[in-house]
Amino acid sequence: MRDSKKEHYASFDDVDTKKIVTCPSCSSSIHRKRLEDELYVCPECGYHFKLTPAERIAQIADQNTFEEFAADLTSRNPIALKGYEAKVSQNQRDSDLKDAVVVGTCTIDGQETVMGIMSFQFMGGSMGSVVGEKITQALLQGADTNTPVILFTASGGARMQEGIFSLMQMAKTASAAALLEATATPLFIVLTHPTTGGVTASFAMLGDVIIAEPRALIGFAGPRVIEGTIGQQLPKDFQTAEFQQKRGFVDAIVHRKELRRTLSFLLSAHAKRGR
Ligand SMILES: [Zn+2]
Repeated sequence: MRDSKKEHYASFDDVDTKKIVTCPSCSSSIHRKRLEDELYVCPECGYHFKLTPAERIAQIADQNTFEEFAADLTSRNPIALKGYEAKVSQNQRDSDLKDAVVVGTCTIDGQETVMGIMSFQFMGGSMGSVVGEKITQALLQGADTNTPVILFTASGGARMQEGIFSLMQMAKTASAAALLEATATPLFIVLTHPTTGGVTASFAMLGDVIIAEPRALIGFAGPRVIEGTIGQQLPKDFQTAEFQQKRGFVDAIVHRKELRRTLSFLLSAHAKRGR
């Protein structure tokens, strides 16, 4: 058994149970309490620390309104890969999560929404069958009940341990996003650091409004792979949220302190009469 304190902080970059945290971006020493008060944004350089789904819910949803669904879905081992089950179990113990996404319903300033929050902590936020199914269920729940959907992404891409089954989740989630769109119900995406691979190549880019946290890494393949393929050096800010905004892939970059207010505004601005 892990002690509850450790569990709570385990997912933040280097935060753990230490009283003083070192910012991975500017190396400043920050008191953990101060970091908490700052919503886990470095007060010196603005680096946005990774959040657990529980922390994200606490920052965004109205208090005690989040009701999780599909909570018990866990991975099988579809291509019988040696060691995969053990790896999943280990990640479940380390993160206190069942898989790399949590989905549920909640209100934000009293407005109903379906929300999904990915966790980079669980196997690098990789999308296997369970992530694909839960994202799909969130999108379909939005379509069925005409409720806007907000998805927070954080992913290293498809979960290669599930082979072709992980790649199929791209088509599955993209189809579900299309069904949501067909009901004229909005999908809001919040890209958090880092969002890459098969998640970027599917539902993460299908939002009606796509928000990113400052300086989040957003891309498909890694820079080294791309440099090797095209034989050219890439710009310094390549694949940052700011770079992607300039090129039209991201609509707005929103500081974590403004995120709840922004999402609340988007929900009210897109509210349908009679919804
Ligand atoms: Zn910093």
